[in-house]
Amino acid sequence: MQKNIAIVGAGFSGAVIARELAQAGYKVEIFESRPHIAGNCHSERDAETGVMVHIYGPHIFHTDIERVWEYVNRYSRFMPYVNRVKAITNNSVYTLPINLLTINQFFGKTFRPAEAQAFLASLGDKTIENPVTFEDQALRFVGRELYEAFFKTYTVKQWGMQPTELPASILKRLPVRFNYDDNYFNHKYQGMPEDGYTSLVEKILDVPGVTVHLNTRFDPAQKDEYAHVFYSGPIDAWFNHAEGRLPYRTLDFEVFRDTGDYQGNAVINYCDNAQPYTRITEHKHFSPWEQHEKTLLYKEFSRQCEEKDIPYYPIRQARDKVQLERYVKVANEEPNVTFVGRLGTYRYLDMDVTINEALSTADKFLACAKGNERMPAFVIDPLA
Ligand code: UDP
Repeated sequence: MQKNIAIVGAGFSGAVIARELAQAGYKVEIFESRPHIAGNCHSERDAETGVMVHIYGPHIFHTDIERVWEYVNRYSRFMPYVNRVKAITNNSVYTLPINLLTINQFFGKTFRPAEAQAFLASLGDKTIENPVTFEDQALRFVGRELYEAFFKTYTVKQWGMQPTELPASILKRLPVRFNYDDNYFNHKYQGMPEDGYTSLVEKILDVPGVTVHLNTRFDPAQKDEYAHVFYSGPIDAWFNHAEGRLPYRTLDFEVFRDTGDYQGNAVINYCDNAQPYTRITEHKHFSPWEQHEKTLLYKEFSRQCEEKDIPYYPIRQARDKVQLERYVKVANEEPNVTFVGRLGTYRYLDMDVTINEALSTADKFLACAKGNERMPAFVIDPLA
């Protein structure tokens, strides 16, 4: 009899792969160590306020990938939501990402777009031709003053290290605009699942052939009982940390409740050292189509991830990538296991990219099965 497929983790990676394979006729078992599905996207309605809470911190769905947008819309209605982030620094409120209003307010100017662009170019350090670090990238494109006001301290709070030690790619996540568009994202599609992310993942998993085991750890020793394992847990944990622990940042949330509208926006970043937290999230503003008298907020603190903590952001400094390389090497020698997702490949991944990669992983598996080829340990190179 054909063995089942095992999937470790019921986040987006695991759920999407499970559905695709079940639809192709496989029997799939998902092993999830937590008491709920949806991984760090898990959302839950708060009993006291009625507000839909992003339990592991703010998740805003945005994408340019047609197939992903079409995919998620099959399983949930997406409500219009545009993320507009405010930032407090030096006792003033600004709008992010850096746009014409931010520049004009910050420098006390009334620049038009081309003037602001020329002005910022004059502030940028043109001697930095190929920005490698976060700081290079900031100094090159926005100059020292904006960098110090909005990015430097926030980044130290978020990552626990200097921006000179972090890659430029982290800052490249944020656009700089010379108009008054303060949409935090550049993507074509953006929205919130009407009933939360957990309901969306539940619908993805609602297909014959998929069984979900909650509160159940998967022991790598069990792998021979399955035809193939898709592993979306931390890659180093699969190998019992034989090459040392890959470092992550974890988050702590201080939850508080109030009545009415506490801060007037979903996310406010605290970019200087006046507060130890990075941002405050007021969850009800993620569901602007709902009405709630009471409100629930998260103060977000970032710190080094210890053994018992939930890993959030992979750090991926040069030395971490050397360690990752050792894991990739042993993983490539592991038959019938494929490493997927943010933790399985140790990358800073947005939800849409995760879903897209999961779809490609399922496609690859089905093509390999058809062609009698070996399914690789990685469909996406974690070292790229
Ligand atoms: N960042 C910053 N100041 C801000 C917002 C972001 O310095 O007000 C930097 C910080 O290093 C952060 C990175 O830009 O980690 C990416 O920000 P994003 O909002 O994409 O982070 P996420 O929401 O994924 O935590």
